[in-house]
Amino acid sequence: MSELTPYHRVMVVVAHPDDMEFGAGGTVARLVQEGKEVVLVQCTSGEKGTDRRDVAPECIAQQREAEEREACKRLGVREVVFLRLPDGELVPDLAFRERIVRQIRLFRPDIVITHDPFRPYALHPDHRAVGITTIDAVYPTARDPLYFPQHLAEGLEPHKVAELWLFGAQYPDLYVDIATTIELKLSALAAHRSQVGDSQDVAQRVRERAAELGAERGLRYAEAFKVISVRR
Ligand SMILES: [Zn+2]
Repeated sequence: MSELTPYHRVMVVVAHPDDMEFGAGGTVARLVQEGKEVVLVQCTSGEKGTDRRDVAPECIAQQREAEEREACKRLGVREVVFLRLPDGELVPDLAFRERIVRQIRLFRPDIVITHDPFRPYALHPDHRAVGITTIDAVYPTARDPLYFPQHLAEGLEPHKVAELWLFGAQYPDLYVDIATTIELKLSALAAHRSQVGDSQDVAQRVRERAAELGAERGLRYAEAFKVISVRR
């Protein structure tokens, strides 16, 4: 299998614990195996994603952060940053954008992977908010020094990202062969015990979806992305 990308530094930005694993877990595992450095920015800790009433949101957050750390360990993600913004209440405003720009200027990724916010009728508001805010953070905000000039005073230089990879895309143009990493993807998903755990239904659905996407390109299992080259 040839190398996925010549770039080296990858940052994944997602709304909730398990979003990266569902959308891009097999791809992330491949990137790590190719020696790339991958970090994850987790915008919320998923503390409201439950139908239980007898557990405090803080307890759920704590558990889901621990699960995300375990999932990252299984995939080989170098670091996970928890922004701890309120689950279900993300809006694409400037304060949120500043948080993402800060992470981009700190980690300085070549590739940023996030939710596709442009897919029609996609329902979760956090997924849309994270996708649009991350895209806006990449271009033009993180790139140009006059945006959030307080960062300069802190020693955070502007940074040009080369590519955006959007998962959950309506019109993908990059199909990643995950035949060798689908078991790692499933293992990382299983680390999310409070959401997925050992559910065979979920594992089955993930395999079916990966097989469907793969069939579009003659692959056994795939994940798919819309790639946007960022003007530098
Ligand atoms: Zn989510």
